[in-house]
Amino acid sequence: MSALLPLEEALERLLAQAAAEPIVETECIPAGAAEGWVLATALVAGLDLPPWPNSAMDGYALRLADWTGEPLAVSQQIFAGQAPVALQPGSCARIFTGAPLPEGADTVEMQENVEVLADGRVRFCEELRLGQNVRPRGQEVTSGEVLLEAGSRLGPVELGLVASLGVAQVEVRRRPRVALLSTGDELVEPGQPLGAGQIYNSNRALLAAWLTRLGCEVLDAGILPDDLAQTRARLAALGAADLILSTGGVSVGEADFLGQVLREEGELTLWKLALKPGKPLTCGHYRGTPLIGLPGNPAATLVTAGLLVRPYLLRRLGATRLEPLRFSVPAGFVWSKAGGRREFLRGRLEQGRAVLHPNQSSGVLRSAAWADGLVEVREGSTLAEGDAVTFIPLSELF
Ligand code: AMP
Ligand code: MG
Repeated sequence: MSALLPLEEALERLLAQAAAEPIVETECIPAGAAEGWVLATALVAGLDLPPWPNSAMDGYALRLADWTGEPLAVSQQIFAGQAPVALQPGSCARIFTGAPLPEGADTVEMQENVEVLADGRVRFCEELRLGQNVRPRGQEVTSGEVLLEAGSRLGPVELGLVASLGVAQVEVRRRPRVALLSTGDELVEPGQPLGAGQIYNSNRALLAAWLTRLGCEVLDAGILPDDLAQTRARLAALGAADLILSTGGVSVGEADFLGQVLREEGELTLWKLALKPGKPLTCGHYRGTPLIGLPGNPAATLVTAGLLVRPYLLRRLGATRLEPLRFSVPAGFVWSKAGGRREFLRGRLEQGRAVLHPNQSSGVLRSAAWADGLVEVREGSTLAEGDAVTFIPLSELF
């Protein structure tokens, strides 16, 4: 048996290639349209957040030193959005959540803990602690501090932070253009009639949606027939892409048209990964454009795209976090036969345990729709119920 390439090693090689061919051009775009893009320059705070000390509660603001235990008169009312005057010595201020603390005040008591007397003064019923219920100026960030590093992917939280600084435009790495190529004489696009021996192209739809979520621009290069002349012509007609992503046609023994064209007009290496599903993978260049060829079976496409192409593309964009989150969970199944390849099984968490879909065929996509994630079983290992396995939520791969 020829040695299979361990997953970690394949990832390392792909990441090294990605680092050698970064997509460095940047764009300034409205923050509202930047979800999923990678920040090209650090987001530096141009102001303190919050910009002034403010109340975390609806209540009363006072200077703690003014409090002797006697009730205090209320000298002003401060709503959020108002600018208060300095606190009159010996008094307190009615204050609402998010309103600026008046100069001189240092402590807020929540309204539930005060008694409003008939003469309008308030009695503080509980012990007070200096600074309680006050959000100090700069609690979240101070001006000049880096709030998001370059290489951060902009998700909802990051966009919230961008907005909190009043920033309306962000500088991001431009979107990668990925040419999607499906190979196979058997493939037909949805909407067309199905002939004898044909199946519908499901990988294109899967990968197009997945790439769009990753922040890529998808160039649909269509279905490539298993034919040398057409393969040559189709590749030559591809517009400028940052990556050609193909599926199918990489199994050993298959008529190797894509491989032949790459050998003529670029280079390629064929990998046999210690990975299941997803053993054969093609890596190369066509006229200088990087190409990754994924196996054609839909579940293998999913696994290799999520575990290898995703970090590869993110690295090309300079993203700092590449790897999906993984969790260690007890196995809710038995794995009695140690395999020679790392398996990623379609599974779910049930009562905190990883359970497997009964159909793990690499040709079956339906079990991935049932699944919440991939259950990783390392090569050479067997498992008893309750043994720790790694679970990667599918959402982490998308
Ligand atoms: P291949 O890697 O070309 O040998 O294909 C492996 C298996 O995946 C075969 O059963 C193909 O019919 C199937 N397959 C290849 N490409 C696709 C695709 N785009 N959509 C659905 N199935 C595919
Ligand atoms: Mg094929």
